Amino acid sequence: MNDPRFAGIGMTSARTRDRLVQRLREHGITNPAVLDRIRNVPRHIFVDEALASRAYEDTALPIGFGQTISQPYIVARMTEALLEGGPLAKVLEVGTGCGYQTAILAPLVGRVYSIERIEALLKRARERLKDLQIRNTRFRHGDGTQGWKTQSPFDGILIAAAPLSIPDVLIGQLAIGGRLIVPVGPEGEQQLVRLTRREQGIERRMLGAVAFVPLLGGTG
Ligand code: SAH
Repeated sequence: MNDPRFAGIGMTSARTRDRLVQRLREHGITNPAVLDRIRNVPRHIFVDEALASRAYEDTALPIGFGQTISQPYIVARMTEALLEGGPLAKVLEVGTGCGYQTAILAPLVGRVYSIERIEALLKRARERLKDLQIRNTRFRHGDGTQGWKTQSPFDGILIAAAPLSIPDVLIGQLAIGGRLIVPVGPEGEQQLVRLTRREQGIERRMLGAVAFVPLLGGTG
């Protein structure tokens, strides 16, 4: 991490990042490992250079192809919710996008399997994670609603785009005790949900209102 691009200056400096971490704390994020990742991952390299000065604002920003980099609070909230309940060896991520969420999560778990339907986004995400020397991640271009059967079951599944209802295929790829974090519902009415697969049945907890791009079928 000695690459000067990652250190940041001015609006991407350590002080600016500390302010973001402070804001997330005030909004209820408590997991110190998650807050550390938010401080250390250079979010400005995940957006267009023209938007770099806004990279540490707590907002979603455009990344092209009609997609966005998620709001840091949401990334932190989803990561914290996924980690709650013990260590995770294998995590499936649906909706790699620019790879920011992947970069926050990967060092906190054993391995991340990340699927994105837009090939150009996936290619750039892969390059960024390589630059950041994050190596415990495998990427796949494809339709995440089908999961990643050959690597299942997963201890955790994180879905970064909103389906109208939770795909049964993905619940089926969750290990016993595994957690699935997903925004569910139509635009304007989405709720973040945490499912835990138990020996008998599924436990469900609502985590609050959110706004995500839709989870689509097929590949782009
Ligand atoms: N995780 C990103 C945010 C991604 S936005 C971050 O760190 O900021 C959601 C992404 O999900 C978009 O890139 C979109 O192309 C992708 N997506 C939507 N439907 C999908 C599907 N069925 N399979 C895989 N990716 C999908």
